[in-house]
Amino acid sequence: MSWDFSTDPGTESELAWIRDFIEHKAIPLEALDLPAAEFDRVAAPLVKEVRARGLWAAHLGPEHGGTGRGQLRLALMNEIVGRSRVGPTLFGTAPPDSGNLELLAAHATPAQRARYFLPLLEGSVRSSVAMTEPGAGADPTLLSTRLERRGDGWVLNGHKWFATNASLAGFLLVMAVSDPDAPPKDRATIVLVDRDTPGVEIRRDIPSMEDPEPCPAQLENHCEIVFTDVTLPADAVLGEPGKGFAMMQERLGPARVHHCMRWIGQAQRALDMLCERVTYRYAHGSTLAGKQTVQNWIADSAAEIAAARLLTLHAAWRIDTAGAKAAREEIALIKFFGAKVLHDVIDRAVQAHGSLGFSADMPLEGMYRRARAARIYDGPDEVHRQSAARLILRGFTPPENGIPSEHLPTRRQTARVQFAALLDPELL
Ligand SMILES: Cc1cc2nc3c(=O)[nH]c(=O)nc-3n(C[C@H](O)[C@H](O)[C@H](O)COP(=O)(O)OP(=O)(O)OC[C@H]3O[C@@H](n4cnc5c(N)ncnc54)[C@H](O)[C@@H]3O)c2cc1C
Repeated sequence: MSWDFSTDPGTESELAWIRDFIEHKAIPLEALDLPAAEFDRVAAPLVKEVRARGLWAAHLGPEHGGTGRGQLRLALMNEIVGRSRVGPTLFGTAPPDSGNLELLAAHATPAQRARYFLPLLEGSVRSSVAMTEPGAGADPTLLSTRLERRGDGWVLNGHKWFATNASLAGFLLVMAVSDPDAPPKDRATIVLVDRDTPGVEIRRDIPSMEDPEPCPAQLENHCEIVFTDVTLPADAVLGEPGKGFAMMQERLGPARVHHCMRWIGQAQRALDMLCERVTYRYAHGSTLAGKQTVQNWIADSAAEIAAARLLTLHAAWRIDTAGAKAAREEIALIKFFGAKVLHDVIDRAVQAHGSLGFSADMPLEGMYRRARAARIYDGPDEVHRQSAARLILRGFTPPENGIPSEHLPTRRQTARVQFAALLDPELL
């Protein structure tokens, strides 16, 4: 029997260093809300500290220039790093670059590795992933962006949107249909496209609930892109043609664990703000801490965060021990459950702060807006619920004769036969 919730002392001291770094360096830097170029300049010495500590890109194996900590240790780290919005960028684990690095590490040719992977790992360039289209998102089998062979190479035509960081990126991973007659999941290919390739038009940084008036080319902008007769060389293809969906799934499994742990960090930060506020805010005869409704918020939030944390750590452990494919059910569960916990805890913290919580004088309003997106990106709640339910239902078959296996009169009858030798005959 092995069942252990403890963290080894080496990892614990590493986590303590990260906690201190996030509290005293990342959260103050976050408050400055700097434009991308200025952020990169001010953040450079902090990134250097993270690298010197051997914590940069901890999601990649050592053979790829990361520290290969495994999903479980990475999850513990991501919870702390995720407390700050800028934490993942300082640790080389910010999406979409983190997932793109994983895809490149697994599938890039030596030439692609030198041209795209190494500069991305080094942090000298940013990347984006362009999969969603105005007409196709939750169901990627409906994608219409086309990749056609021409001579030795390829030509790309199509329309994408919501590609995060595309206006800042040096290159894009674009998912396009290369074989429309293949079975739906074997139709798409991922191609590596330099952003300055002729025919690539970043049409706009899309105003969104996250940022209704985005400055152009800002970190975490989401972009609309049109590809018109973009000519690509044969070696623009990442991995095998037709394997785009399978590769993307591989990228998204561990990435969802990383997201969920960061959400737990955000939810805990919101709960900490809530708890501080209610100790001193006085109304109707007591501090808010004395109101039962507020006590319920605190207890419910703490329980939900703990449940989400354990579910997510379990999913991470499954990936480490059995692989991402075996952990599909756990990953689907945490994606929608984690997003709900994130939203609900921040919502209660906003409520406890009243008008101050609604104002931009607290980080809560930005956290709340970003939390709403978590229920949509990387697959909406409903799709993950559907996947989880389908996987769970695989363990069930209809009962014989249509009688539920727990039907009590039937059970009693069988039990009377099973225990006949022991039962008082008068009761039979
Ligand atoms: C902040 C943010 C960042 C993003 N970053 C990127 C990025 O970097 N690259 C990229 O390619 N995309 C990105 N996206 C897009 C994201 O992946 C899509 O929004 C997502 O896949 C859903 O697709 P859609 O928006 O087209 O929704 P639709 O496909 O139009 O679905 C709309 C709604 O329909 C419902 N629905 C769908 N399917 C089912 C079902 N089977 N059962 C029940 N209900 C269902 C859900 O409620 C869903 O929200 C981002 C989105 C956001 C919000």
